[in-house]
Amino acid sequence: VQRESYPVTSVDRSRVSLPVRPRDAHKGDFGRVYILGGSVGLSGAPVMAAQAAVRTGAGLVTVGVPAPIWSVAATKLDEAMPHPLPAGKDGKLELAATEPLLEKLGGKWVCLLGPGLGRSNAVDAVVRHVLAETTLPVVLDADGINALVGHMDVLDNRGACTILTPHDGEFARLTGALPGEDRLAVARDFAEAHSCCLVLKGHRTITAFPDGTAYINTTGNPGMAKGGSGDVLSGILVSLLGQGFTPREAVPLAVWIHGRAGDLCAEAMGEYSMTPTDIIRMLPRVMRELT
Ligand code: AMP
Ligand code: MG
Repeated sequence: VQRESYPVTSVDRSRVSLPVRPRDAHKGDFGRVYILGGSVGLSGAPVMAAQAAVRTGAGLVTVGVPAPIWSVAATKLDEAMPHPLPAGKDGKLELAATEPLLEKLGGKWVCLLGPGLGRSNAVDAVVRHVLAETTLPVVLDADGINALVGHMDVLDNRGACTILTPHDGEFARLTGALPGEDRLAVARDFAEAHSCCLVLKGHRTITAFPDGTAYINTTGNPGMAKGGSGDVLSGILVSLLGQGFTPREAVPLAVWIHGRAGDLCAEAMGEYSMTPTDIIRMLPRVMRELT
């Protein structure tokens, strides 16, 4: 790869303009998105991802959660549709979830695997099974990424687009080493080696594609360093993908939108007090800025 010929860029806000929705559009035009996440003790993560997806324009959002937290998710979600899945005594997905999950994915366009799933052998096996079986584009976050530890072949053998959104800790667990100083080179190497898109999160999140194209994000602030921020990002991302943006367009833009909403929150309520839920509430303003 001639990396030099692919300049590293950031999203240029003045050049982004979201498409005007056709007057006769219906919900089916804007993506059927499936989000798999949650476990007893981590019920907020898939809820935040789903709310962020709805707020950024997804047409239909289904949220698969282990049955023990289904009523929690159902109570919190009005627009997104909670889908109960078999769970074990530990409150996490069990192997029997694989079949109903794959069946439900049948009619979907894109899926997000990971927010709040927790870790267990069964969870890891379900995630890997879905990755191997589905030909949908997949966003992998959090415990979805953890399921690949020691099983990179599952990622390498996918025929469809996979986007991974690790923070440094998840990246280190996956590869055996922290990104270190040269985050850009490390992200590009990973994306190229595994033919996937890598979003290496943190201050100045890097997005790298397999051909060497990379973005360094310019939005966001330390007020976003709070549990739940990443779940909001993965929800925005799967939403844009569901609406037909190509990964090339959707990934850097989702990262930018997420940080921009965070910056508006910091302005309005300060870095100490702002929450990931506030970031979701700020999304309409950012989406309007872009239309
Ligand atoms: P997670 O660790 O999965 O909750 O993801 C945290 C999200 O917040 C990522 O999108 C990070 O890029 C963002 N974030 C966390 N800390 C900062 C920071 N200091 N500056 C900018 N963005 C941040
Ligand atoms: Mg996270």
